[in-house]
Amino acid sequence: MTTQQIPLLGEALETPITTLLKPLLGAHMPTAGGHHKAILGGTAIGCETVQIFTASPRQWRAPSISPEMAEVFRRTLAESGITKTVAHDSYLINLAAEPGSEVLTKSKAAFRAEIERAESLGVNFLVSHPGAHGGAGEDVGIARLIESLDAIHAETPGMKVRTALETTAGQGTYLGGQFEQLARIIGGVKEPKRLAVCLDTCHVFAAGYDIRTPETYAKTMHLFDEIIGLEWLQVIHANDSQKAFGSHADRHAHIGEGEIGLEAFRCLVNDPRLAGLPIIVETPESETMHEVNVQRLRELIA
Ligand SMILES: [Zn+2]
Ligand SMILES: [Zn+2]
Repeated sequence: MTTQQIPLLGEALETPITTLLKPLLGAHMPTAGGHHKAILGGTAIGCETVQIFTASPRQWRAPSISPEMAEVFRRTLAESGITKTVAHDSYLINLAAEPGSEVLTKSKAAFRAEIERAESLGVNFLVSHPGAHGGAGEDVGIARLIESLDAIHAETPGMKVRTALETTAGQGTYLGGQFEQLARIIGGVKEPKRLAVCLDTCHVFAAGYDIRTPETYAKTMHLFDEIIGLEWLQVIHANDSQKAFGSHADRHAHIGEGEIGLEAFRCLVNDPRLAGLPIIVETPESETMHEVNVQRLRELIA
């Protein structure tokens, strides 16, 4: 996708890291009491970016966002100094489900509503799991997903929020565990500019892309660039992993307390290619630990 030469990590780190070259650090914040509460809660614990669910991620039923609610969110955001926000879609959505099935019909309607809610709030990126083929095979699954995305894009013309397809741990029949699959999805849709990629450190590690040392981190990012293209990377999920390398298990751990370790996150937050990108923590015990994990990331910045 790109032949762009990327610097070796050793070279990259010689560049002095100025404020301009830093990523935006933040966390997935609760929206109880209104979507704007995520912004207030985030800034209170030092977030420079936040991720939210715009509706309950475990229910098909999702209330739409009133103009008043959107206005409160936008105003709170404008006053906060936060420049990039991210939404995460419902866990129930599977845009690669069998054509004609109830789950695909529901998924397409729900995903269209996800885009509409994110757009009304002025959210920049909607992180979405690419779905599961359910045994039909990777090729069939990717074709179904592309068809779903094309249909939804056609129904939501001109919307600015970009869907960031998330790398997954590649568990079961889930798509997104291999960079090649994401490249094929982006390359296959009619409106690729509606898409982006979200790299989740826990998921790629569990999927078999090592990032534990400067060398392995550089190699994985080089692969991402060669296969997908770093220009598509717009959101990072920074999570350590409770499960082993290549385990295909999705279990987040606190930064530096899992199988990945601090060194990977040091590489991540000091990588000048990720400057300005939202780096979001999605770890357990969020009420007490989000602040700690964001601070841990900040302390790693050289
Ligand atoms: Zn994630
Ligand atoms: Zn996960």
